Amino acid sequence: MPHSRTLLIIDDCVEDREVYRQYLSKDPHQSYRILETDSAEEGLLLCQKDACDLILLDLQLPQMDGWEFLDELRQQSPNLPVIILTGYGSEAIAVQAMKKGARDYLAKAHLRPNILQLTVRNTIERSRLQKQLRQSQERQRLIAMMSLRIRQSLELEQILQTAVMEVQMLLGCDYAAIYQFTGNGSDRQQNSQQFCDRSKSDRQSSIVCEAKFRSCCGEQPNLLATETNLEIPIILKNCDRIEQFSWGFLLIHHCSQKRDWQIEEIEMLHEVSVQLALAIQQAELLKKTRVALEEEQKLNAFKSKIVATVSHEYRTPLATILAAASTLKQHGKRLDITKKEHFLQLIENKCRHMSNLIDDILCLDRANRKQIEFESVLIELMPFFATLIQEHQESTSGKCELNLKFSGNLTNFHGDRRMLEQIFDNLISNAIKYSPDGGQIEIALMGKEDEVIFSFQDEGIGIPKEEQETIFQSFHRGSNVDTIPGTGLGLAIAKTQIELHKGKVSLWSELEQGTKITVILPKRIST
Ligand code: ATP
Ligand code: MG
Repeated sequence: MPHSRTLLIIDDCVEDREVYRQYLSKDPHQSYRILETDSAEEGLLLCQKDACDLILLDLQLPQMDGWEFLDELRQQSPNLPVIILTGYGSEAIAVQAMKKGARDYLAKAHLRPNILQLTVRNTIERSRLQKQLRQSQERQRLIAMMSLRIRQSLELEQILQTAVMEVQMLLGCDYAAIYQFTGNGSDRQQNSQQFCDRSKSDRQSSIVCEAKFRSCCGEQPNLLATETNLEIPIILKNCDRIEQFSWGFLLIHHCSQKRDWQIEEIEMLHEVSVQLALAIQQAELLKKTRVALEEEQKLNAFKSKIVATVSHEYRTPLATILAAASTLKQHGKRLDITKKEHFLQLIENKCRHMSNLIDDILCLDRANRKQIEFESVLIELMPFFATLIQEHQESTSGKCELNLKFSGNLTNFHGDRRMLEQIFDNLISNAIKYSPDGGQIEIALMGKEDEVIFSFQDEGIGIPKEEQETIFQSFHRGSNVDTIPGTGLGLAIAKTQIELHKGKVSLWSELEQGTKITVILPKRIST
């Protein structure tokens, strides 16, 4: 049998009250606690004091009658159901009673136990269902409003901030926070049931947003005290909408007084969490789109730059090649062997320059598309650098003096040989190119336990301070290079390759005093 209901009988006739009591006490389906009074005024006081489920009301009462009582009750407890019982039954009275808010109407003359029992039971049940409906509508309204506020922004930080504030206000709790799971993607592929048990799944999470009331325990709420906490998972769906993963969870904490979380509160939080998940998903999607768009724009700018550079850089050598070739064609027979060789050398040099330029551009393009193959091998740094320096000295006919210094432990160094040759080749050729004839260039290698520090210092023209930040970007050249040839790709390629080695590059430069480029590379790349 369902738990007992409280009824209030308001009737000035003692005998009638006794009849109702008897009829209702015999109801086999429901038990009642019965309050009674003979006056409407006292009836109003009683239902203020006691939580009643239903009122049986006689219309004919001394002083305040049933009609007046209904008016007062509508102000006081608009949802408390009332059944009218009167000796003078008529259709007009029934209609008027319903208009005034009564739920049903029974004529005393025709009253039978089963009629009273059934009417009372049905009215209470109907009223309970209506109450549930009202609550659920109110909940939906609140959730809709919250969702609207949460989803007003497309910025993740703003979304999370709004969500914790809304949840804290909705529940009046001491503390609300959002945690996001950290770790790699495979970690995320968990299903929603496993998720809640954080201690067992041993997943790492970090707080991303919180809101706290002053009443909360100390500076750091005791979030491990599970009896004060409520954890609601935030589950995101993958693009295909079939797979889902736990993004994080909503943590609600209340410690200023004992609180039993109500089932409705938990249900509401789950609904908020669904809306929050959608908002997070939208924000993440927007972020990804923005990044892709930026990448696309960068790539487009890069391509335009390539077209401009290639057409500009090719025009001069092509003109030289054309001139040399037509001289050879027209006057070849009359030219002596040294002149002929001079023109052929010119053609070869210009073709090599053009071919190098294409190689550089292709290399950067592959790096941009992350298509570079990386093959790590053990490299003996001392002979590696000795050869490199010898080649440079020969190719520049000893324009500068290159001094090489080694210190520390340089053994056990690994890297991609071709890439390392390109990196150091670019840095050494810059040092020579931008130095005066006879300039001193110091190349130093310092071996540490896990890394090697390489530095290249010259006494050349230097780089203007305001241009140093962008000098590693492709096609950027110092405004002081004057007629020194170059395309502005060497440093960009070197930087990309250093990063592929998980290394760092930094720069010091002073105009007319010199430049020092420092590269730090790990001895072995950890994967
Ligand atoms: P290339 O692509 O043929 O190497 P580049 O030397 O102009 O052409 P980067 O090596 O990328 O291109 O260098 C970019 C710019 O940085 C140079 O144009 C120059 O202005 C400046 N720069 C680089 N190294 C030095 C240096 N050692 N001393 C002075 N300026 C330098
Ligand atoms: Mg260069």
